[in-house]
Amino acid sequence: MRSISIFGATGSVGQNTVSIIQHNRNAFDVHAVTGAKNIEKLAEIAVALNAKLAVTSEISRLDDLQSRLKGTGIAVQAGRDALLSAAADPVDWAISAVVGFAGLEVSLKIAENGKTLALANKESLVCGGALLHETCKCAGTTLLPVDSEHSAIFQALNGEDINRVERVILTASGGPFLNSTIEEMAHATPEQAADHPNWSMGQRISIDSASMFNKAMEIIETKELFGISGGKIDVVIHPQSIIHSMVGFKDGAIIAQMGPTDMCGAIGYALYWPVRTDTGVDRLDFSKLSQLDFQPADMDRFPAIAIAHDAMKRGGLAGTVFNAAKEQCLDLFLDRSIGFLDMADLVNETVQSLENFGNCDADSMDKILKSDTWAREYVLKLFKMSNK
Ligand code: NDP
Ligand code: MG
Repeated sequence: MRSISIFGATGSVGQNTVSIIQHNRNAFDVHAVTGAKNIEKLAEIAVALNAKLAVTSEISRLDDLQSRLKGTGIAVQAGRDALLSAAADPVDWAISAVVGFAGLEVSLKIAENGKTLALANKESLVCGGALLHETCKCAGTTLLPVDSEHSAIFQALNGEDINRVERVILTASGGPFLNSTIEEMAHATPEQAADHPNWSMGQRISIDSASMFNKAMEIIETKELFGISGGKIDVVIHPQSIIHSMVGFKDGAIIAQMGPTDMCGAIGYALYWPVRTDTGVDRLDFSKLSQLDFQPADMDRFPAIAIAHDAMKRGGLAGTVFNAAKEQCLDLFLDRSIGFLDMADLVNETVQSLENFGNCDADSMDKILKSDTWAREYVLKLFKMSNK
């Protein structure tokens, strides 16, 4: 039996992970499951998986979790320190599926102590790619991608020489605003932006998909994960989301990975790697797949992609600043304080102003945290100035 932990178990990726484990329940010994606000779901998962430990990152919710798990024998803890301590508990496999920047330290703790880190939290690579690789290297931890595009690239690269890669083609569905005008996008509400046509995901990543900030993050994630330069990473709109991404090689061949739009495919690949096992995902039915479409991404309506390339050129702390500004703008958009398109303007201005903070290598958590705080405050300063 393999020992495993699930960080962010109550979220979209987390719950998909739970369902895969339930599909093959006897193969796993579940150590920790964690969440934040959704205590009812966390308790339900802890009981269903017979976990040893349930942790909420929210200290104020400890009593609630304790009362729900009373008499089960499952240990209960709360708070950020408890979360990081659970991440430091050695297990055979742990998934980092906390949302946002909060996931970086969780990933680093797993990397320090775990055998295999299955990484859904893309912010870990965007903000701390070099640090995470170094930590994995020192501890001998295997890092496996869970993001569907990066799982696809990883699968396409299996047995290939990375030096023979000509380009990587990330596919993007185009999200709910693929065919919207710029005026329609300017007035989009959080509800419209979160309404993804193909993928069922958490609210924040769904809105990031609508603005293509998600794809922009994935460009940086590709560079950090595989060491492929930004100039070799293309984005193509593929509305059906059947091809999860592709790798083009020096001989002109392209290897594409296909599957249903179900995160269980990528999560299951990371869970059973290097072996392929049935996780219960649907099979593609080619008799029903009438066509696969492709079109270039519209850089005017989706400026996030160009901002990501700029951040990659700047290097160092630019990834952290890009992500922090994007997270802060998303909060402002969710509050209805700014419009959908304002997010890209504010993120761009913040990345452009990185020199005010001072760029340097993102080689310590201290530097990353400080630049994250600076970028969030900078966005708020710009927002207040524009409202004077
Ligand atoms: P969700 O918002 O659905 O879930 C996030 C999880 O993190 C929940 O368990 C939530 O707890 C927990 N959480 C929230 N804030 C904190 C915090 N401050 N500290 C600790 N835990 C916290 O997110 P997703 O599952 O959609 O995404 C998770 C990560 O995976 C993101 O980085 C995302 O970009 C990435 N990803 C997601 C994909 C998807 O299909 N959803 C695909 C590829 C990558 P609670 O719910 O109890 O509040
Ligand atoms: Mg993705």
